[in-house]
Amino acid sequence: MSPDSTHNHPSRKLIIAIDGPAGAGKSTIASRLARKLDYVNLESGAMYRALALQAIENDTSFDDEPALLKLAEASRIQLEPTLGGNRTLLDGKDVSARIRERDVTEAASRVSVHPKVRQWMVEHQRALGANAGIVMEGRDIGTKVFPDADLKIFLDADPVVREERRRAQQKIKGEVAANVAAELRERDHRDRTRAASPLVAATDAEVIDSSSMSEDDVLARIEKLVELKRQQRST
Ligand code: C5P
Repeated sequence: MSPDSTHNHPSRKLIIAIDGPAGAGKSTIASRLARKLDYVNLESGAMYRALALQAIENDTSFDDEPALLKLAEASRIQLEPTLGGNRTLLDGKDVSARIRERDVTEAASRVSVHPKVRQWMVEHQRALGANAGIVMEGRDIGTKVFPDADLKIFLDADPVVREERRRAQQKIKGEVAANVAAELRERDHRDRTRAASPLVAATDAEVIDSSSMSEDDVLARIEKLVELKRQQRST
């Protein structure tokens, strides 16, 4: 069988990219979709968060690109998909909960602007997806990490809706929901305006505005798109 016919085999597992701004629902949708398809769900943002935590713990400036790159190269950042959800390990230590805290969230948004840091991340993310059968979510998966992904989704939502969702998530976690709107807008602005791989929908992405859609509706829509891809392969 030629490599090309393997690539187009209907049963071949797909690479699915889900990009979009914070609070659009990417994480929940990506994890539910991966479970349904029996795929691996990889959160690329967790890698930026792990590096940000490393920078905090090593007193490295979030603006010092060469130092951040060195730190990344010296770190072991692992994404471990488990049945109960994804774990993130930093130098062998489970930092899954710590990297969701506010200081790391802010730091991740700042370390991710640097082109050399991004290049390092992209190389590692590509290696993780080498066997396909993945749903990878982030900001540049369809544009940069996997420009040839089988299916690209750009999941968006109105900023006010995203802020409300973030507030609700924080309430569930028992966190103080201070400045949610301002923080979300600032991260969004940084993601969309940075010079290296800014957040933008790939030209061949399916844009889904989830503002007035339920989680189930979004999932059903994406499942239909997956089915369509599989059918295209078998014709
Ligand atoms: O997705 P999550 O909120 O966990 O990502 C944390 C930060 O990492 C984001 O605010 C964004 O700036 C950055 N990020 C990125 N590219 C990705 C994933 C995340 O720049 N592919």
